[in-house]
Amino acid sequence: MIIWGSSGKAVDAGDAGSHYCEVCKEQRSFRYMLTYKVHHIWYLLRWPTSQKYFRTCQVCNNSFDSTAPVAVSAGIDDGVKTKHPIPFFDRWGWAVGLGVLSAFVGMVMITANIEKAADAKLVADPKAGDRYIVKIEKFVGEVNGNSPLDTNYGIVRVASINGDVVVFDLPRMVWTKSSKLRSEIYQQALQNTYYEGGIQIPKSALGQLEQQGVIEDVER
Ligand SMILES: [Zn+2]
Repeated sequence: MIIWGSSGKAVDAGDAGSHYCEVCKEQRSFRYMLTYKVHHIWYLLRWPTSQKYFRTCQVCNNSFDSTAPVAVSAGIDDGVKTKHPIPFFDRWGWAVGLGVLSAFVGMVMITANIEKAADAKLVADPKAGDRYIVKIEKFVGEVNGNSPLDTNYGIVRVASINGDVVVFDLPRMVWTKSSKLRSEIYQQALQNTYYEGGIQIPKSALGQLEQQGVIEDVER
């Protein structure tokens, strides 16, 4: 669910000098005030809009339209870079948020690559008891020399290895989604009753099946 919203804010924007106040009818000291709207998505991605400056009389508190203070619009103040009146997070939250999101996406991708590399290792040297989540028609089709539709997923188990031939147990049940098998591979698929019948596949073919995504996951 996307949580989003916006709110209006007003912040002090520094000394605005001494001016005649039309309400007090006297010379008064003024401060700049900046109003803006900050929008957010999930509170983290933030960006400001509708910035407007005022000058506020320090005695009567009335505000008058103003342009941005020279120091702010020029970005300098006595040679020192002025701090922008809008808090850092309201101004740059969108960049911080994007940084966090891309770091998260990066971690997910790295994790996927590590798992892929680990699976490739297991497939190169199968051991009895290994379970694979496979696109079952394609996996079985490898034996029959054709490539039928890949509509179902199932768990197969390495029964034995005879030289370059790997014997697999085939599952009694298959599913149209592999997500259901993520828990079965640690539970039901450990039982002999989960399987019925078997096929033989050359060990040398397993690496390619893993690369093609026919073997989707491997557990030992
Ligand atoms: Zn005043």
